[in-house]
Amino acid sequence: MVTKEDSTHKGICPLCNKPAQVKPSQQVDAHVVICERCGYFRIGHGIAEQFKEQLHLIAGLTRKSSFPRPSVETRLTLTYDNIPELLATSGLPESLLDQLDKVHHNRLIPLYT
Ligand SMILES: [Zn+2]
Repeated sequence: MVTKEDSTHKGICPLCNKPAQVKPSQQVDAHVVICERCGYFRIGHGIAEQFKEQLHLIAGLTRKSSFPRPSVETRLTLTYDNIPELLATSGLPESLLDQLDKVHHNRLIPLYT
């Protein structure tokens, strides 16, 4: 039996909390999300909780990178390490980036246990 990937992986988009396709990535320790609002992206475990003040901004980044539709290789992968950089290069105010920096250096939740 062939499994249809689209119908079997329903979930909640970690960025906008609306129904979306969410499934484990085959390549990295992250989830693949296909959200009609936030676009196509991969997101590491615990990212949404850690960056919850910035989720709307991150969603802006994923949206921008999702049109035209990216290939699997060029799809944005959100990690603890690249989110501050992604936001820094997006022209957002510095006060916000300071805040992000704090989050970045205060990661209390172990990612992989
Ligand atoms: Zn979304």
